[in-house]
Amino acid sequence: MNFYEHIQKQDKEVFDALEGEEQREAEGLELIPSENYVSRAVREAMGSVLTNKYSEGYPGKRYYGGQEFTDVVETIAIERAKKLFNCQFANVQPLSGAPANVALYFALLEPGDTVLGMDLSHGGHLTHGHPVTYITKFFNFVRYKMKDPDTGEIDYDEMLRVAKEAKPKIVLAGFSAYSRELDYKKFVSIAREVGAYAVMDIAHIAGLIAGRAAKNPFDSGFDVLTTTTHKTLRGPRGGMILTRESEDIAKKIDKTVFPGFQGGPHMNNIAAKAVAFGEALHPSFKTYAAQILKNAKAMEEVLHRHSIRMIGGGTSNHLILADVHGSLGISGKEAETVLDEVGITLNKNMIADDPRKPMDPSGIRFGTPAITTRGFKEKESARVAELLVETLKNKDNDAKKKEIREEVRTLCKQFPIPEQFL
Ligand SMILES: *Cc1c(COP(=O)(O)O)cnc(C)c1O
Repeated sequence: MNFYEHIQKQDKEVFDALEGEEQREAEGLELIPSENYVSRAVREAMGSVLTNKYSEGYPGKRYYGGQEFTDVVETIAIERAKKLFNCQFANVQPLSGAPANVALYFALLEPGDTVLGMDLSHGGHLTHGHPVTYITKFFNFVRYKMKDPDTGEIDYDEMLRVAKEAKPKIVLAGFSAYSRELDYKKFVSIAREVGAYAVMDIAHIAGLIAGRAAKNPFDSGFDVLTTTTHKTLRGPRGGMILTRESEDIAKKIDKTVFPGFQGGPHMNNIAAKAVAFGEALHPSFKTYAAQILKNAKAMEEVLHRHSIRMIGGGTSNHLILADVHGSLGISGKEAETVLDEVGITLNKNMIADDPRKPMDPSGIRFGTPAITTRGFKEKESARVAELLVETLKNKDNDAKKKEIREEVRTLCKQFPIPEQFL
């Protein structure tokens, strides 16, 4: 079946690019830990007629008429989200992860208030207060870090000290480049001690939590979770804000998302969220989430064997952050480029207190969500890690790289993207 039949007839330029991307995704190994393959069902919902509809407001309280079906779809998405994450309120309208975080800050803070978040070079996200973002013009961000980048343990004593001094209104957990579990109880107790909200941005690990392969921060008393829906959760590009039990907080969040920040919700994407959440509620998603972790462990073992330094000393989740500059004398940017040549896609990344620059840092970040969707188990994942290391060690050996490119193609052919994700 040609998914792009009409585009093909009507718009050759865009069609060619879409075909190219289809082929790239099929024939290469996708290791960017924030990417995944969504199901055909999710894509059908995204391409549905709901993109035609304006639905400003929330189910039962809309500004325009004709909402009998949009209300159904948004309500299903909300109910499934609540069930997946075991909480009482869900706002499924944020357009993506960054807008969800901006809405969260404006819902819970007054301009000038302080947020205590993870240092960005230690794994935090841009939206957790990087100076290039506009939120830093409105709010003040203070930091916690790892005590020791070689174990990944957070310096909770220092975190408490900073919290007492800076009096944040939000204690923010969550990360995009951190491979260990956080001590959720410590975060909540520090938040309670200084009278702050305990919030976690679970964008990267939402699928692990939904699949019961990682602890749910709500079980330790977190007040609010923000997330993307397109990473490990394997849904459409989008965001979401979940509130454990406070109706007061949930109301503030709803008002801030709409009309505070956004206009009409992207109802086609909300339908796709509903479909993806339905998939995540299925027992097979637990198997998927557990396999993501097993595959990451298999990759970790290979890196250990090659004595490649990993930030955090290894991984307890879906991703690995490797100090390739320290271990192999190759920069993160160079590593990204040479791996691209052999069909292995990942990203350069800053490591803790990186002496190098953001555009050419010391590390690379990679993970297993997409290859696990592809059907890879431990054996194939370990082989991918071997190929990755071999490529880096042979970065100037064209014959060797050609050989690896061929093996990558063969692996991809042996494990085509499964039918339901095409
Ligand atoms: C990916 C990510 C985001 C941003 O999501 P976008 O959809 O790219 O806006 C926010 N927070 C964390 C922790 C992330 O990893």
